Amino acid sequence: MPTTTERHEFQAEVKQVLDLLIHSLYSNKDIFLRELISNSSDALDKLRFEGLTNPDLLSGEELHIRIERDADARTLSISDNGIGMTRDELIQDIGTIAKSGTVDFVKAMQQSKDAETPLELIGQFGVGFYSCFMVADKVTVVTRRAGEDTAHRWESAGEGEFTMDEASRETNGTTVTLHLRPHDGEDGLQDYAAEWVLREIVTRYSDFVAYPIKMKVEREEPEKEGKKAEKVTKDETLNSMKAIWSRPKDDVTDDEYKEFYKHITHDWTDPLAHISVTMEGAVEARALLYIPSRAPFDLYHHEMSYKGLQLYIKRVFIMDECKDLMPPHLRFIKGVMDSEDLPINVSRETLQQDRKIGAIKKFLVKKVMDELGRLQRNKAKRYQEFWAQFGPVMKEGLLSWEEKKEPILELMLCHSTREEDDLTTLADYVARMPDDQDAIHYLTGPTLESVRQSPHLEVFREKGHEVLLFTDHVDEVWLQHAPEFQEKQWKSAGHGAVELGTKDERKKAEKELKKTAKGFEDFTKLIQELLHEDVKEVRITNRLTSSPACLVGETDDMSPQIIQMLEQTGQDVPKVKRILEVNPSHPILEKLQARFEADKHDPVIREFAELLYGQALLAEGSQPRDPAGFSKKLATIMEKGL
Ligand code: ADP
Repeated sequence: MPTTTERHEFQAEVKQVLDLLIHSLYSNKDIFLRELISNSSDALDKLRFEGLTNPDLLSGEELHIRIERDADARTLSISDNGIGMTRDELIQDIGTIAKSGTVDFVKAMQQSKDAETPLELIGQFGVGFYSCFMVADKVTVVTRRAGEDTAHRWESAGEGEFTMDEASRETNGTTVTLHLRPHDGEDGLQDYAAEWVLREIVTRYSDFVAYPIKMKVEREEPEKEGKKAEKVTKDETLNSMKAIWSRPKDDVTDDEYKEFYKHITHDWTDPLAHISVTMEGAVEARALLYIPSRAPFDLYHHEMSYKGLQLYIKRVFIMDECKDLMPPHLRFIKGVMDSEDLPINVSRETLQQDRKIGAIKKFLVKKVMDELGRLQRNKAKRYQEFWAQFGPVMKEGLLSWEEKKEPILELMLCHSTREEDDLTTLADYVARMPDDQDAIHYLTGPTLESVRQSPHLEVFREKGHEVLLFTDHVDEVWLQHAPEFQEKQWKSAGHGAVELGTKDERKKAEKELKKTAKGFEDFTKLIQELLHEDVKEVRITNRLTSSPACLVGETDDMSPQIIQMLEQTGQDVPKVKRILEVNPSHPILEKLQARFEADKHDPVIREFAELLYGQALLAEGSQPRDPAGFSKKLATIMEKGL
């Protein structure tokens, strides 16, 4: 079949990934085989799934994966009779088109100082196929899509371009042939044409793959009934194919659990924990769930949003990405769920309505929350790492109507004013609350550094009241209607009046404040007039001890961060004016007030009013409306001061 060979360039990002892989010092090169077998297993899953609705696609031949090796020619091939790829898919999926993941992966590699680690993420970025260039200097893919007659060949030395030809292939499926690099035991390269090497890698990484992985092996047949000893070649299935989740827990080793995780997620890093679940009673199900140790790069991508679990029914793979088994705020949980009680012809639509699925989901969520609770209690350090990766996603659950809020709040870790870098649970915070404190005090801000410095905290520090600090985007949203925790309400340190101490103490403080405010009444009125475009009120406060001024909102006002977030999403946000609170015992205020008493029209007062407002914005991590104008004014004052 004479056809012309087409040459295609790899996109720049793909070239970069290939270059990284070819020259990588990554020591565990064996994993290329796991990646290729996983791809084959996925392709067989897809064919089996499509075959449910289109039986013509299934030829009747047993679905399997085959490994062939040629020690003399130094080639190794992995083939399957799965779904195969069309020409376009071949070009798109493993050809020129850099998927979003490729770009993200290159970025992650460039940003990392530790050259080894991020390579482990490669599978997650959907570029696992390229790992075969770690061991091969040329790779050929011949594939035929189920239902099509023509096969296609893709070939590349990984150096910038690949070629495409028409080809022939007897059945549907894909064959990947590797032309192996010379091996010398260094660089982690083994002899991948050696039977024992392949056998060992398959049993280590891919034993549970649900399809037989076959290989021809040579065996010495002993002398028998007068026949001489001779070498015979036999087909052998290298893997046990046992569904790992249906085996008794104690029979499965930790390594097997880890490898299964890597098989289903294409994540090369070990998971943080696995949860083996057996549900009995009205609905029977088994599940094997994993908490990953690192957040995938696309955790917040809208199009990804979440993949869900793999669904099996009576040990038969039904679908990837079943979203009805995990709520969005637990979308990072990976794993499989297998039930005897669901009809095999379920579709994504009927699943949503299935009450059994609802019951299973509830059960699985409970198990995940229990396990996270255990981690939080028993492995504090690892739990902190978990929370840093996935905490912001978990908090999304606080915005959902369907979720119970208390269990999520129980799992929350927060920064607080108590000690730097010491995270606390809410339960511990509440336990430390003094008797006269009736609400959970918190403050939000753009960064931890800026909230820690915030003037709003001054009076809390002085009175020894601990304040929780929040800096994730999602915090701004859920804290607007924060659900009670242990019957305690939440109160923002940046909103409303300060209410600290016993009832009597509060009354006394309020009285005193009113008295001071009277003395400042005309002065604050003037400042308010001068700043009327930006602030709705100027008032005397007892919130500050060392700063001259700060900005606060009314109890129900949106915070500046939330306004910024809304504006960034292109929404028209009505201007929310805030309250400028000034500290009457600060020298700046005392002196300004004195100037005001001497001459109500003193131009210095106007100048300083704007500076006071600008510095209050800076102190909370916001920006003055006109930063250039602000710094000019500041420079003039500095000049005068010298
Ligand atoms: P991932 O498997 O994580 O998506 P890969 O780079 O390993 O990333 O593979 C890219 C894509 O190429 C796969 O998603 C799949 O669509 C296609 N592919 C790879 N191997 C096969 C195969 N053996 N059969 C069919 N399609 C395959």
